[in-house]
Amino acid sequence: MKNTYYITTTLPYVNAKPHIGFALEIVSADVLARANKLFGKEVFFNTGTDEHGLKILRKAEELGVSAQEYCNAQAKNFKSLRDLLNVEFDRFIRTTDADHKEAAQKFWKICDENGFIYKKNYKANYCVGCELEKTNSELVDGKCPDHPNAEIEIIEEENYFFKFSEFGERLLKMYKDNPDFVKPKKRFNEIISFVEQGLQDFSISRLKEKMPCGVEVPGDEKHVMYVWFDALVNYISTLGWPNEEENFKKWWPGVQFCGKDNLRQQSAMWQAMLMAANLPCSKKVYVNGFINIDGQKMSKSLGNVISPEEMVQRYGVDATRYLLLSMGSFGEDADINWARLDEKFNADLANGIGNLTSRVITLYKKAEFDLDFEKSKRKPFVDNIELEKSLDEGRFGDEITRIMKLVQELDRSIEQQKPWELIENEPEAFRESIEGLARGVYFIGLKLKPFMPETSESIVNSLEEKNKVKLFPRL
Ligand SMILES: [Zn+2]
Repeated sequence: MKNTYYITTTLPYVNAKPHIGFALEIVSADVLARANKLFGKEVFFNTGTDEHGLKILRKAEELGVSAQEYCNAQAKNFKSLRDLLNVEFDRFIRTTDADHKEAAQKFWKICDENGFIYKKNYKANYCVGCELEKTNSELVDGKCPDHPNAEIEIIEEENYFFKFSEFGERLLKMYKDNPDFVKPKKRFNEIISFVEQGLQDFSISRLKEKMPCGVEVPGDEKHVMYVWFDALVNYISTLGWPNEEENFKKWWPGVQFCGKDNLRQQSAMWQAMLMAANLPCSKKVYVNGFINIDGQKMSKSLGNVISPEEMVQRYGVDATRYLLLSMGSFGEDADINWARLDEKFNADLANGIGNLTSRVITLYKKAEFDLDFEKSKRKPFVDNIELEKSLDEGRFGDEITRIMKLVQELDRSIEQQKPWELIENEPEAFRESIEGLARGVYFIGLKLKPFMPETSESIVNSLEEKNKVKLFPRL
């Protein structure tokens, strides 16, 4: 079996700053990347930015700069998530990168040679917010339900089309053969029923004179590729496809992460495109829900936006990672506000992990013996079927709940054993109590590694070096 693990986020459009939903996506992918490294796998983690399409062109025009200048500035905001959220991606791909554009053109050529691309006149409703065509039945009061403030535009021109309609049976068979292909199950059922209803070919080009911001269609300089068609190819162009065959085979197929608004593109359109190019489908698609504020969609106009920067400023990097992962259950929408975040921070981190660690280390410092932690080092990640299973299902919350249970158990042990009363007269009982507590906290420290890497290191180091540590001061 291949001992490699490839994970990628979607590539967000650069027309806005990174929002909290993408922060959740990239942190989730980072947890999977880190955990798989701890399981002993070689890992490649991809993220980046989508820099083509009408939305970006209009934004650049509005600011009076070229699309490329605009993208260069914006891509930095996304790249900075690496430090902001401590995510260890291996490549940050931009769809304006030369190797990506070349790969997208090669991909197009193969699909074309295989007979899956044709040209026709077309008229469609188009939501610039989604950069997607909308059928009349998808519109609510003539508007896109996801972008009620954006006008639906009518596109009328001669375009290239992708024969999506030919892939219904093959997609359904692939889904049947891979019963874990989309997680959670609810989203899998949704995409199956979408495909079962019959697929429509979709347009994959735009007239360059109207929309110059895109990859040129090979052999037809009047057209550029539709933004989704080129962007989806990033999941393999980042691996060096088609030039670096060895590297591509080493990593592909990979695991993908996306938000629920991306379900169709990732688990149906992209898979059909791969089939059209004779390439293996993705391994798995994890689909996150949205993060709402007090039951409402986050939006600038409502003034209720919570940004990843604000969260990090208030709680720190690791606590932000923890809160993002634990405020909702995987695949469902999460509902947050500052009060709930504060409450969770204080309960789980300040009064939970932070307080326990500081109490146990204070007691351990009073002990005259030193503990050897060497042998416990790899333990939490060796053959941990339970953890592998919950991560595989995308249910990070399971492991976080297990960790918090350990914290509570150790808190109870301290109260029951009262080791501070044993120091003077019962050295054996004191030693036993401290050893149990310190090893317990050490184990928690190790277990936190994929979720809160810096906290994990602080806990482990402070026990090994018998030094005090202050984590998560109460707000
Ligand atoms: Zn829309």
